[in-house]
Amino acid sequence: MTDLATRVKEVWATLHEMPEVGFEEVKTSAFLADALRAAGYQVQTGVGGTGVVGVLDSGNPGPVLALRADMDALGHMVEGKPCAIHSCGHDAHSAMVLTVAEELARKGIERGKLKILFQPAEEKLFGALRVIEDGAIDDVEMVVGIHLRPIQEARSGQATPALYHGASYIMEATIHGLTAHGARPHLGINAIDAAAAAVNAVNAIHMNPTIPATVKVTKLHAGGAALNAIPDKAVMALDLRSQDNGLMDDLIKKTTRAIEAAAATVGATAEVKVSGGCPAAEYDKDMVELAKEAITAVLGPDGLLAPITTPGGEDFHFFVKHKPSIKAAYIGLGADAAPGLHHQEMKFNPDALINGVNILLYMVDKLVGIRA
Ligand SMILES: [Zn+2]
Ligand SMILES: [Zn+2]
Repeated sequence: MTDLATRVKEVWATLHEMPEVGFEEVKTSAFLADALRAAGYQVQTGVGGTGVVGVLDSGNPGPVLALRADMDALGHMVEGKPCAIHSCGHDAHSAMVLTVAEELARKGIERGKLKILFQPAEEKLFGALRVIEDGAIDDVEMVVGIHLRPIQEARSGQATPALYHGASYIMEATIHGLTAHGARPHLGINAIDAAAAAVNAVNAIHMNPTIPATVKVTKLHAGGAALNAIPDKAVMALDLRSQDNGLMDDLIKKTTRAIEAAAATVGATAEVKVSGGCPAAEYDKDMVELAKEAITAVLGPDGLLAPITTPGGEDFHFFVKHKPSIKAAYIGLGADAAPGLHHQEMKFNPDALINGVNILLYMVDKLVGIRA
């Protein structure tokens, strides 16, 4: 039998050769679904588009534990041609979770159910939403995710028990005025006047300064071909960030109100919407403690890093946002990934993947029990 360290590298090498961008993970999901079936899982495909769910039932009462891996590659341009590359390491995440899944099917679990969730389109930041809509987390009580870290954050032989991604949202606003001849501005409503007021109103929003939160106008288009007419439309976009989901909800409300009220000062109206984004990390204290214990057991005390706060977004956090009772943890694994994630030349040390496999197995054993 192939040992786990060899198997995880073999699966990674296979997935690495079939990079596919979000919602196009056809070969990837077919490979993973076949492997889960071969291992003895009940498998559902087409979850949230191209996602795959595998279930291993102990037959005994107990919790439903999900292990989640993302599957998608990124679209890059190489020598002027678009191509997909696994530059965020999602091939590594799927390889680790599949290797764990196979080992657990061989040995069996003692209680509850194990749910393997291969999620599509993390890079689009709504693959998780699609699998949630398809009911993938309806029965899930605990979920564990794992992601490689760039070399600047973690090296081979190190891991963090919690990655605190921030909340990140994009809002868009369309301001409607009334066009008129440039000679008769009193007959029109100038959308640029409304937009200028809106920019100032947004910049005057203040949030609790002890918690990071920002809102910035990132696009402003107004005015048409006729430079002697009053423009009747302006389009704005805004980037919002916060390390706290409650604060983000308030920031979205205040931003909406600021734009609507500012537009109204000149008689214009504004349609304001959230057009994309994802929530900040919210982890269960006990699950993070267990992750610490697992990392220490596998890598020794020197391998255990402190929790890491990262400005990047991760759609994994929609699971808890949609079902707050879910207890979540998310491991950041060191594998010397350089020069950085999302770099098309990103390389990492595949020998470190066995560390992720063993950390996940340790956690699964504590949560649902692995049969001897
Ligand atoms: Zn990424
Ligand atoms: Zn990623």
